Amino acid sequence: MKLDSLRDLLVEQLQDLYDAEQRLTKALPKMEKAASSPELKAAFRKHLAETEGQVERLEQVFEQLGEKAKKKTCKAMQGLIEEGEETIKEEAEPEVRDAALIAAAQRVEHYEMAGYGTVRSYAKLLKETASVKLLEKTLAEEKATDEALTKLAESVINVEAA
Ligand code: FE
Ligand code: FE
Ligand code: FE
Repeated sequence: MKLDSLRDLLVEQLQDLYDAEQRLTKALPKMEKAASSPELKAAFRKHLAETEGQVERLEQVFEQLGEKAKKKTCKAMQGLIEEGEETIKEEAEPEVRDAALIAAAQRVEHYEMAGYGTVRSYAKLLKETASVKLLEKTLAEEKATDEALTKLAESVINVEAA
């Protein structure tokens, strides 16, 4: 795809996010299964439901822009998920594995926050107000998830110290 305009770049970035989110709908159940802490399991389950909504939101944004919903392989998310899967396979104490799962998940959330921050700004510049609103909703969910994971990381580490 040749990028002639900011609009083309917006669409390309949305296609990357669309691929990334769909990969996450498959990865999050595995992370939930691998987690030991009930709170961490619940956090992954909650974010799976949100992620499914985020996929739909992206479909709405494509529609608002008059574009077909298409995926462009997100190699970064592929890699982040691969790292998470390595963590799952490694032999580890449950609390340590939980901490490692949180570390992997927070990398994912930060990648998403960067991606949604970018598309939100492009949509704003292009005066795509309805899309801005949807993208901001998702951005807020990614941020809230990251903050919840930070709190969980602290409680996992507290268990270890006790
Ligand atoms: Fe997401
Ligand atoms: Fe990407
Ligand atoms: Fe997320």
